[in-house]
Amino acid sequence: MLHFTCDRCDRGLLLEEDVRYEVTIEVKSGYDPMEITREDLKKDFSAEMSRLLRQMKKKGTRELEDSVYKVFRFDLCLKCQKEFIENPLSKLTVNNEQ
Ligand SMILES: [Zn+2]
Repeated sequence: MLHFTCDRCDRGLLLEEDVRYEVTIEVKSGYDPMEITREDLKKDFSAEMSRLLRQMKKKGTRELEDSVYKVFRFDLCLKCQKEFIENPLSKLTVNNEQ
């Protein structure tokens, strides 16, 4: 039997809640169109490729994958869904009024 709980507050979702919300968060590298300059064309591409490969060898597979793409999936109860959509990035609010 499937048993869903809210991934944020651990409340049971099938018996205690009328609705369950699914949240998918996709984090991926953003690439802007490259601008190629004259200096770029003068680079030693073989040396640059070797430098990049050395950098990659120092990192683990997981770290390399996570640096490019990561997806998270969560189930939320109604209360947590409301709080999530109000502030999905959990930004801290600063009150500058004195
Ligand atoms: Zn919850």
